[in-house]
Amino acid sequence: MTDEQRQNYTELLRSRLSDYRFHHSLCVAEEAVRLAKLYGADEKKAELAGLLHDIMKEADREEQTRYALMICRRPSPYFEASPKLLHAPAAAAYVRRELGIKNREVLAAIRYHTTGRANMSLLEKVIFLADFTSADRSYHGIGKMRSLANKDMTKAMKYALSYTITDLVANGKTVHPDTIDAYNDLLLSGGR
Ligand code: FE
Ligand code: FE
Repeated sequence: MTDEQRQNYTELLRSRLSDYRFHHSLCVAEEAVRLAKLYGADEKKAELAGLLHDIMKEADREEQTRYALMICRRPSPYFEASPKLLHAPAAAAYVRRELGIKNREVLAAIRYHTTGRANMSLLEKVIFLADFTSADRSYHGIGKMRSLANKDMTKAMKYALSYTITDLVANGKTVHPDTIDAYNDLLLSGGR
């Protein structure tokens, strides 16, 4: 990302997001770079994906659905049940179409930042975790989450996914199959 791109994307985020979500996006980009350095992922791709991962978060549902369907092909009952999931594939489609970002790893990291999936790439894990450990975050368990993210990526992923799944189940929500796949994959593969 050139300085000019960074500036343009930042302005675009500012126009599309609340102050809270804008700040979160900058924090996730910073945290993604830090984790990328720590685990040997591509820092530039991490910054780009981190910066743009939530660009569709506050778009109206119709726009989110329209973009998500460009990438997911058909409507999913899980998106109906949990409309919050839409913003991730929608963001991947948006940055590809409107910003001309073609890099598949960056697009996948954005697309799967909420659900996760089986066989996640290093960059996908970096973005997934950065969204949990960025400086703006506070929730019960953040201390443990941050300390795991700093020393063991697989343990951190397991912790984040069990936190997500447990929370969804406790609240009577559906769990997207990609999230279950991500969790099972970590346990079955012993983490790669
Ligand atoms: Fe998100
Ligand atoms: Fe986020």
